[in-house]
Amino acid sequence: LSSETSEDSAICCGCSSTCLPGYYRVCVIGADDVGKSTLINKFICSDVMTSDGDADDRFVTVVIDNEESTLEFVDFSEDEDQRYPVDAYIVVFSVYEKSSYDIAFRFLQCIRNEQFSDRPIILVANKVDLVRKRQITKEEARHLASKFNCKYIETSATLNIKVDKLILGILKQIKIKLQPEIK
Ligand code: GDP
Ligand code: MG
Repeated sequence: LSSETSEDSAICCGCSSTCLPGYYRVCVIGADDVGKSTLINKFICSDVMTSDGDADDRFVTVVIDNEESTLEFVDFSEDEDQRYPVDAYIVVFSVYEKSSYDIAFRFLQCIRNEQFSDRPIILVANKVDLVRKRQITKEEARHLASKFNCKYIETSATLNIKVDKLILGILKQIKIKLQPEIK
């Protein structure tokens, strides 16, 4: 894959650097103001999580298929220094800002060209509550997602629409990727 084969870059299997079972790190990435922080805050308060959430507000504990998993959400814009690998990406744009869609496109290109380019990605069209200001259609965004082999979901972070589905979706994609024998 990469020509870099130093010990440092060969961190375990390329999953989250701690390599703890059931612990996954998810990078949330996108232009300014698309709703990344709002989404992460909603993840913490989500009904699907089982812990009380005040221990550390980047972590969400979720149970699916009777198995407990912990997701850590890394806000790329607040942690630009991150060099550690992540298990999945949530790429967010705002449906009423074409410029944020263009930035999402560039992030998708970057991720797929990177060393860990096969990580699951969910492309998130946020702010779908702003129906009349909408600039990016569902068809257009779906097409972009399929071009980069991503899942696609439309959310409203402020109205808490499909936020739970996004958390469960990213966990499901991670599990499919890491354990192909499990459905
Ligand atoms: P970030 O820069 O990507 O972290 O964006 P923020 O989470 O700080 O949100 C930027 C602004 O968009 C804030 O005023 C939020 O309240 C607003 N916002 C976030 N999500 C939504 C949404 O789904 N719908 C609407 N109408 N506004 C949103
Ligand atoms: Mg923010």
